[in-house]
Amino acid sequence: MNSVGAKYDVAIVGSGPAGMATACLLGSLDRKLKIIVFDKRPETTRDHKLAIGSDSINAMSKFLMEGLAASTNCVNTEAARQLLFQLKSWSKKSIPTSTIETTLATFAKERLNITVHRDKAFNIKYVAESSQKKPGELSFDDFLKQTGGARVIIGADGSKSEIRNVIGAQKTDILNLGYLLELKYKATPNFKPRTYLQGSTQFVMSSGFDFETAGKPRNGNSGIITLHKFVSYLTHRILIQGTKGNPENPWTMSELKEHVKDNGKIRKILDHFECYLGSHKVASLGFNRIVTFPMTIYRSSSVASLYKGIIILLVGDASSGLVLERGVNKAFLEATQCARAVLKFFNKRKNLYVGSEESIDDTKPSSVQARVRDSEEIVRGTPKTISETATLPSEFIEYQAQSHSLFLREVRWARFKHFILYSAQFLFKFVLSLFFKPFEFFRRKPS
Ligand SMILES: Cc1cc2nc3c(=O)[nH]c(=O)nc-3n(C[C@H](O)[C@H](O)[C@H](O)COP(=O)(O)OP(=O)(O)OC[C@H]3O[C@@H](n4cnc5c(N)ncnc54)[C@H](O)[C@@H]3O)c2cc1C
Repeated sequence: MNSVGAKYDVAIVGSGPAGMATACLLGSLDRKLKIIVFDKRPETTRDHKLAIGSDSINAMSKFLMEGLAASTNCVNTEAARQLLFQLKSWSKKSIPTSTIETTLATFAKERLNITVHRDKAFNIKYVAESSQKKPGELSFDDFLKQTGGARVIIGADGSKSEIRNVIGAQKTDILNLGYLLELKYKATPNFKPRTYLQGSTQFVMSSGFDFETAGKPRNGNSGIITLHKFVSYLTHRILIQGTKGNPENPWTMSELKEHVKDNGKIRKILDHFECYLGSHKVASLGFNRIVTFPMTIYRSSSVASLYKGIIILLVGDASSGLVLERGVNKAFLEATQCARAVLKFFNKRKNLYVGSEESIDDTKPSSVQARVRDSEEIVRGTPKTISETATLPSEFIEYQAQSHSLFLREVRWARFKHFILYSAQFLFKFVLSLFFKPFEFFRRKPS
């Protein structure tokens, strides 16, 4: 296991888009902050494309420009400008996840001197006792020792966040937007996945497939391709039989065909699948796995909390997420709000920086001794200004409120989008029925 050794102010768990964006914003706007990022994956492997909107890029750019305008000597002007340029170049574009992660991680390491630890050893697991962890896992308390006394720990570890478990803020399902049918298969390498937008249009026009995502190509074939289709609650129920139809126990195409022999609706879906797979030069149908699942939105009951005197924050999918779409925009917006709160916190307490030049300045012996004492107390997990009983600093209470309202905004947007899609499909079918089979639309089928 890697030993980190040095002292840090901020430790970030997760080097996905949310974690790396937070690290880069913080490092660019305060060169004195000592930041370390941990990730359990040894390399960036996810290639699904993320459509980056202009709102999140504008928010990050505004934050960077405010920092540049303030022109304090803490701002790393050159790096902040470079980051601004990089982020703007991503606005309104679809960028593979691994490109976002690699670009930001390289920038963090080379331009901001941020340590990024990618190692399987950093598979952090929240367990009550260190003895409960499995081989290859790091208990949260072991992890605390690795952070070099960081005052702030940011959980950017995705939808299955372990850091969320540390603060006891279990995820809460609050809304179910609908049901999804998912088919996984492999195709030849020249395969191009259908985007959400293309899929949405097709959904309205023919109630065909909605969209698909593809993993990295390997051994001359495409990566695993995931094809999604919106289905009704009824269809979802038909496809869930006991434990069958769950991601752990998927259907194969032939099993499902047998199971729903006399069901016209499912038959139609399977015909669509077959026709679609035929047009794609499928390389490996043996792999096909069909499942349905509810499309839920979740949020954490808390995104800012105190644990053993350390401030724990959640950002990106760790705090809340939509199962589909816009995850990266929410992650970037939240990264901006989180970085703003963290900067405010450290600016107010400048002389308590663990890694700041001031705390190792030995030109004024008396004040240096006091600061080193403070720093040591922080390293031992008993910081002077934050105790177990102290309330959360106001900047983090503000962050909690901002994150919550951002989530509500996302929910409203998702509901609106689904309402439009379903209404458009309904209208389209209604108009078609008027032209081709008048009155049939309203007629009940004999049972
Ligand atoms: C197949 C797929 C398709 C998607 N399509 C879209 C889309 O089209 N548009 C869109 O906006 N969003 C999409 N998303 C969602 C989007 O990827 C996320 O919302 C976005 O990446 C948020 O990033 P994040 O940094 O919060 O979390 P993540 O990207 O999940 O990053 C979490 C990081 O934490 C690390 N980690 C996790 N647990 C631990 C641990 N215990 N210890 C150490 N490290 C840990 C992981 O290795 C990972 O690097 C998709 C997601 C998937 C899976």
